[in-house]
Amino acid sequence: MGFVHSWILLNCAAIILLLPSLCYPETAPYSTFARDATAAPQEAYYDYIVIGGGTSGCALAATLSQGSKVLLLERGGLPYGNPTISDIRGFALTLADISHSSPSQLFVSTDGVINHRARILGGGTAINAGFYSRASSDFVARAGWDPQLVKESYEWVEKKIVFEPEVKQWQSAVRDGLLEAGVLPNNGFTFDHLIGTKIGGSIFDKNGHRHSAADLLEYAHPSNISVHLHAIVQRIMFISGAKPKANGVVFEDSNGMKHWAYINNGSNNEIIVSAGALGSPQLLMLSGIGPADHLEANGVEVILDQAMVGQGMADNPLNALIVPSTEPLETSLPQTVGITAFGSYIESLSGIVEFGWANSLPPELLNQSKQVNKMTRQQESPEVKAAVDSYLASNLQVGILLEKVMGPASSGHLELKTLDAKDNPKVTFNYFKDPQDLHKCVKGMETVIQVVESKAVSKFRYRTESVKFYMDFLAALPLNLRFKHLTTTFSLEQYCKDTVMTIWHYHGGCHVYKVVDHDYKVLGVDALRVIDGSTFPFDSPGTNPQATVMMLGRYMGQRIILERSS
Ligand code: FAD
Repeated sequence: MGFVHSWILLNCAAIILLLPSLCYPETAPYSTFARDATAAPQEAYYDYIVIGGGTSGCALAATLSQGSKVLLLERGGLPYGNPTISDIRGFALTLADISHSSPSQLFVSTDGVINHRARILGGGTAINAGFYSRASSDFVARAGWDPQLVKESYEWVEKKIVFEPEVKQWQSAVRDGLLEAGVLPNNGFTFDHLIGTKIGGSIFDKNGHRHSAADLLEYAHPSNISVHLHAIVQRIMFISGAKPKANGVVFEDSNGMKHWAYINNGSNNEIIVSAGALGSPQLLMLSGIGPADHLEANGVEVILDQAMVGQGMADNPLNALIVPSTEPLETSLPQTVGITAFGSYIESLSGIVEFGWANSLPPELLNQSKQVNKMTRQQESPEVKAAVDSYLASNLQVGILLEKVMGPASSGHLELKTLDAKDNPKVTFNYFKDPQDLHKCVKGMETVIQVVESKAVSKFRYRTESVKFYMDFLAALPLNLRFKHLTTTFSLEQYCKDTVMTIWHYHGGCHVYKVVDHDYKVLGVDALRVIDGSTFPFDSPGTNPQATVMMLGRYMGQRIILERSS
């Protein structure tokens, strides 16, 4: 049976790495407390209601359940028993699944970049590329977090789900290429965020088996926690007063039946939104917290006029080169990373790719994407055109090198499109609006090119293929919906802008001090917090966010328990 895996299909499942499948049965280790929402009571009471069983939500709910009654509501299903999710080789297949029940919900920002958001217990950690790296100490200091509790919280996560990867030929060559390109020093294997070249952690174990934030629920107190799956929270409810107080939620099960969950009386009981960078601002707006004119225009009753909800949405731009290899390469998701002093991160992956996008993008997106690529294809020489076309028709061994812009400095906003929480909101990220981001991208791509031309990586390259050819090749792929220019593959600035993709590290929408306070309490209302990646202001914490988002769930869980007992 053929089984599909990938990466740079990155945004649009355009490229798919092929491998034989692994099949093994697997069930949730905690099946006693996770059940489908169709079996949920119509009305029930808890001390904490956590909305979103994702990266932070699972860590938070498991922690809070130590001493309180907790309800965790997740719109997706379990990540167990399905090798597409559990096995490293299923990475691309999950993203290529565009059905309504897919664990990955496709969205396209108004910038024309194809993107995905999780819809499954474990959230992003159940569908992501697995690279694990802690935030820099500078990020921790700027966030005002207690460094000792941060360290303990990272360790709590790492003990359960993080592994040292086995580094094979391609990832070793990239490490050596980065060192040759001057991304120094060599920091070896470390979870820490340090300038230089390093091997990071992974939530895939040595057998390529994924461990996700859902596994952190093994830490939960089984008789204190209820997890409802396929439970879509449509709205948070409030008791009106001088200061509105959140007191419950309405959620819908997969049969469309409504259920009501309330928090018990008591000043410490709360609702905590952990629905991710798109889901959390969207849900606040659907519940009446957001810019009053926007809410009124959409027919939402205003509970609190809050102009900053949905502002500061940022996605780190990603640009890449695909390098066809003369010899077989291991299938790898990122293990080696180059952290440059100028704010660009370099990562890599490898394996066999099939350029099978026709099956994995909705037809209208595929057509749009092909249209906007026309310009670059018209100016290809006959030799390049023939080579690109033959690659597009075949399965190839490739290494992919990519760079991500740190920050970024550019940001945009989110708006409601419909009043149904199932639907994607409308998101604008404004890639490269701030010239700093473009500058970092160009420098990052220059370093990527140096790595491609290094001795270590060159040994895998076909002699006849130049960097310009790799640029032409990538620009010919339907990887985004952005218009390509005559200069796309002649100028790195234009290449950055025209071939930008996502690394899925989008964040913002509920920034600290703008929407929530330092304790993640929503400003202007009581009994409501937001704890997830939507609170990160302008920066994803180091190379990759998942470590810090899980850490934050644990960290805030501990802090909330402490508040309750004092
Ligand atoms: P999420 O984990 O998305 O959690 C939000 C949860 O809320 C979801 O489970 C969602 O289903 C649920 N939800 C939303 N709305 C509702 C609602 N109305 N009712 C009920 N439930 C709701 N990071 C890394 O560090 N390393 C990587 O290698 C990496 N690769 C990535 C690859 C991909 C394809 C993706 C998508 C992300 C990747 N990331 C990676 C990013 C990282 O996974 C995310 O930044 C992180 O998981 C976000 O966590 P979160 O808790 O903010 O949101």
